[in-house]
Amino acid sequence: MTERLYYRDSSILTFKASATGIDQADESYRVRLDRSAFYPTSGGQLFDTGNLSGMKVVEVIDEGGEVFHVMNEAPTFNVGDKVSGKIDADRRRDNMQKHTGQHILSRALIETCQAETVSARLGDDYSTIEVNRESLTDDDLLRAELLANEVIFQDRPVSIDFVPHDKLKEIPLRKIPDREEEQYRIITIKDFDWSACGGTHSEATGSVGVIKITGQEKLRGNLRIHFLTGMQAVEDYRWRFDQIESISNIFTRHGRESLEAVENLVAENGRLRKKNTELKRQMLPTYIDQWYKNAIDINGTKVIAVDFSGENFKEARQAALGIINRYEVVAVIGADDKLLMAVSEGLPLSASDLLKKVADQFGGRGGGSPQLAQGGGFKSDDIKVLIAAPEKIFDI
Ligand SMILES: [Zn+2]
Repeated sequence: MTERLYYRDSSILTFKASATGIDQADESYRVRLDRSAFYPTSGGQLFDTGNLSGMKVVEVIDEGGEVFHVMNEAPTFNVGDKVSGKIDADRRRDNMQKHTGQHILSRALIETCQAETVSARLGDDYSTIEVNRESLTDDDLLRAELLANEVIFQDRPVSIDFVPHDKLKEIPLRKIPDREEEQYRIITIKDFDWSACGGTHSEATGSVGVIKITGQEKLRGNLRIHFLTGMQAVEDYRWRFDQIESISNIFTRHGRESLEAVENLVAENGRLRKKNTELKRQMLPTYIDQWYKNAIDINGTKVIAVDFSGENFKEARQAALGIINRYEVVAVIGADDKLLMAVSEGLPLSASDLLKKVADQFGGRGGGSPQLAQGGGFKSDDIKVLIAAPEKIFDI
């Protein structure tokens, strides 16, 4: 069994130990030590990285009570040799902030909205707490977030105590441990939270820095709350700040007024789109007359071909119907990978038959009535060719 130095003191970042085993597994090497300050992945917390006698430790695994230090290169030391360990301080601090932050937020969620933590995950990009509630309001989450940050600002001491099984009842634990053990490692945030936990935590709540809830998702009847701590939260704040500054610069407004500016723009865009649609509707007969002037004669039938690529497909349909109602013609309208065929009622041709011929030849699909048929799944280049030379449709 590896003696776990982080168990009593999470501030140990360098240590001396003896190598007790070196196993080769595929391309990697797993080193065992008699004692280690490296935290292995467990309890929802990620492993530490660092080095052993200058050699990189890429992963740390907990298996059968032993801590395995995974390296990608063969160790330069042998079993029995003394080695010196060094933990990556930034990653450890990050993990301690996340883990302490999780304890604080889990307790704050109980205090403010009686939501109990079912599980937690401390990730590289963000961390999550799953609570036994189907939903929480934005106000619930805000109150929990405020209390959590209040506890951080109070800089309450965080202590590690080892408590025997029969004394466990005297502690107001958030959750009774599942496993029966002789003694339990209890993490206490002074006068606020008590939790049986094997992870690495800050020595006081202040070093968590900040807690920000960033989202929630429903999951198996529970709620999963996303949150950030410490430098992760600061980086997220910087990113969001830059986004808002960039948006407000576009509008030459103050950052706090950018939402109003965007809302005004969206509302104005809606009004303009409506106006644009109305103008197009009014202009359609004029356009149709122009298209008719350019109509080509194929076997005695007038054919109008128009390219609507990049335009609204609903408008393309309206144009097709407008054309065949105004003149006795065949209308061929292309729009990116789609094709519309429309035939005036008096003509002895079928739009669906014509479309089917094109689809068979060019690999699209679709159908419709003798008057109006539409198809999709064409190559947009083929559509462009057909609009430029609609006689091809009748040659097929
Ligand atoms: Zn913990």
